[in-house]
Amino acid sequence: MLHPQHIPNTLLKHPLLDQMKVEMEVMRLDQVHPTASGNKFFKLKYNLDEALKQKHNQVLTFGGAYSNHIYATASAAKIVGLKSIGIIRGELLDDQNPTLGHAKAVGMILQGIPRELYREKTKPEFLDQLRQEFGEFYFIPEGGTNALAIQGTCEILSSSQSNFSHLATSLATGGTFAGLASSLCQHQMLLGISALKGEDIQEEMANLLKIHGIQSKGSLAVLTQYHQGGYAKWTSELIDFIHWFWESFRIPLDPIYTGKMAFACWDLLQKNYFKPGSRVLLIHTGGLQGNLGFTQRTGIKVPNPLA
Ligand SMILES: *Cc1c(COP(=O)(O)O)cnc(C)c1O
Repeated sequence: MLHPQHIPNTLLKHPLLDQMKVEMEVMRLDQVHPTASGNKFFKLKYNLDEALKQKHNQVLTFGGAYSNHIYATASAAKIVGLKSIGIIRGELLDDQNPTLGHAKAVGMILQGIPRELYREKTKPEFLDQLRQEFGEFYFIPEGGTNALAIQGTCEILSSSQSNFSHLATSLATGGTFAGLASSLCQHQMLLGISALKGEDIQEEMANLLKIHGIQSKGSLAVLTQYHQGGYAKWTSELIDFIHWFWESFRIPLDPIYTGKMAFACWDLLQKNYFKPGSRVLLIHTGGLQGNLGFTQRTGIKVPNPLA
């Protein structure tokens, strides 16, 4: 079993918040676990339980070379006593890559595959081929979203968050958004800030909720205008914001997910989106392990308390 640590909330103090009569807090899922942190903790929890229940001795999953999912899966599998295999997008596995370095150090077997082949990753024939190569495994999809992942993300909110009017999360495959949506109260609104470019994500989220039989009691919004150029793309405005957020509140953000989410919330605050009296909970979904690799590959410094 994966055991969560205490998840603190950090209250943001700023003159603009006072002026707008809006309260903002950050829910620090980045602190839920030292190595299997953020939303990935919740997404992995029941999947690993199931793998053990089905008497598997290993899990296999897919991800990019800097993926939070790969990092967390490698860590969590090791903790519960499962072996892990990571199929990584792109042929060349760089020795200096800190994400893969960690994964390897905790025992994950890594295999890089060409991008064309990577696209086949959900095809049964391809998974069969991998079974021939590696032996039987419990399969966890890229990004980790499936029914058991959503069962886990349903546990992020508890009754102590019911007095917030708005909750905000970063959104990619939507497993986190779906779990939060299912545990919303009637008076609450969930904002999903897409880390990816594209309007299709609106429809994809509607489908995901339908497939998993989730009817939210609250209201839902997917915001598609804060991707900053697309997945893993950034603007200098975003990087400046991440530095400003760290200077102002001593909360580190990552440029791929949580930076875009917090940027969106602050932009909405400035644009009078939140009515006076609103209480906004920014859900920090983690991802800080990626900051080291981000700086390595771009040369751009971001606050990195883990370094
Ligand atoms: C994976 C990840 C997300 C996206 O979660 P989904 O459930 O795929 O939408 C958001 N934030 C961080 C930090 C992540 O690592």
